[in-house]
Amino acid sequence: SGKWARAMAVLREFEEKCSTPIGKLKQVADAMTVEMHAGLASEGGSKLKMLISYVDNLPTGDEKGLFYALDLGGTNFRVLRVQLGGKSGRVVKQEFDEVSIPPHLMIGSSEALFDFIAAALAKFVAEEGEGFHPAPGRQRELGFTFSFPVRQLSISSGTLIKWTKGFNIQDTVGQDVVAELTRAMERIGLDMRVAALVNDTIGTLAGGRYTNQDVVAAVILGTGTNAAYVERAHAIPKWHGLLPKSGEMVINMEWGNFRSSHLPLTEYDQGLDVESLNPGEQIFEKMISGMYLGDIVRRVLCKMAEEAEFFGDTVPPKLKVPFILRTPDMSAMHHDTSPDLKVVASKLKDILEISNTSLKTRKTIVELCDIVATRGARLSAAGILGILKKLGRDTVKDGEKQKSVIALDGGLYEHYTKFRSSMEKTLKELLGEEVAASILIEHSNDGSGIGAALLAASHSQYL
Ligand code: ADP
Ligand code: MG
Repeated sequence: SGKWARAMAVLREFEEKCSTPIGKLKQVADAMTVEMHAGLASEGGSKLKMLISYVDNLPTGDEKGLFYALDLGGTNFRVLRVQLGGKSGRVVKQEFDEVSIPPHLMIGSSEALFDFIAAALAKFVAEEGEGFHPAPGRQRELGFTFSFPVRQLSISSGTLIKWTKGFNIQDTVGQDVVAELTRAMERIGLDMRVAALVNDTIGTLAGGRYTNQDVVAAVILGTGTNAAYVERAHAIPKWHGLLPKSGEMVINMEWGNFRSSHLPLTEYDQGLDVESLNPGEQIFEKMISGMYLGDIVRRVLCKMAEEAEFFGDTVPPKLKVPFILRTPDMSAMHHDTSPDLKVVASKLKDILEISNTSLKTRKTIVELCDIVATRGARLSAAGILGILKKLGRDTVKDGEKQKSVIALDGGLYEHYTKFRSSMEKTLKELLGEEVAASILIEHSNDGSGIGAALLAASHSQYL
């Protein structure tokens, strides 16, 4: 019928605008490399902040003792303790707890958020038991993984540049988040020192390096997306401090804020951006990460309903609710292998209150999920190629057998199988067979928490 044709026209136009042929991805990767140079050259020189992390040494394996970590970066936060046993003992024992952040605290006051975090941490510390050995008479130490853009002042302090990923608490912006946390710990009488402030990419890089010395970069694909890598200190013109002994410095790219005319942006991306908490910012993140993919799908479905009665003669009201379709639900629909697509049917019914769809309609929805996920996955691969180019590791030098490992983590990467395999396949395609053989992607399962604890250990006040 005419309506079906109109709905397909909306879909096909979207598909075409989303297309990411290899040539385009290479342009995206080149643009990423160019922006990396610009961001390293001067403060404010690029949309890529290329933040200096003050991490100039990654874990060696010698780290010893009891350390805590706290990971705040999305909807959940985790607290973790590890007993590190040095070269021979490695991670002797670890425990963690996960707490979800009540949504009102994400947009409330700074004090309320940090009080909540400190209280959860205090409760966790109180449960410390068998197998964990705090050094007598010493203060407990913590690695704080805070995954928002921070201008570091030292390894253990830094001011918040802006919130992302749905957080919006004005009075934290410009403040030292370690001081905020420390004050909250003092308010409830928790005696703990923040020894390292990092973000999830840096934690993942550190955790990845602890288990594999060939790790050169880390990428997070979760609620948001970001990357960090090991740069040569003398290749950072904006760094005016002393050159570190190691000659290296870890850079937090904040690649979520990347943007380029080569990105395949659509009207739906523009709509999402305009209505977001941070319009004009985090454009790369809004095309790739878990917070947004489901909402892009919803927006296209909404257009199909409005313009072509895709779900009958009225637009289902739930379809108009921002973020009602979450990426895990999109992923479940995308992976539906039942012949009658019953997962799709039940998600439509439960989330969007749409029933009685035809199989043809449900197949179209799966296809839409595929378009959105594939674009995000392929753009992530292009970003990784951009880093490898910057490192000069996108080619094989004669006779060199050097491996490069990228540590990957985040819920999107971990759970969205089709996203993950598309990303890995695309990276191989971009690199070509010969180079691809020397590049490895490694899932660093919760490397970020362990990584922060390891960095707390290597920056302990008692060393
Ligand atoms: P964060 O990024 O908030 O620190 P995670 O790395 O655990 O936390 O990522 C959580 C995000 O991963 C969720 O917001 C969601 O977008 C995505 N995610 C979680 N589970 C799935 C899933 N099954 N399929 C697709 N995406 C998922
Ligand atoms: Mg995380």
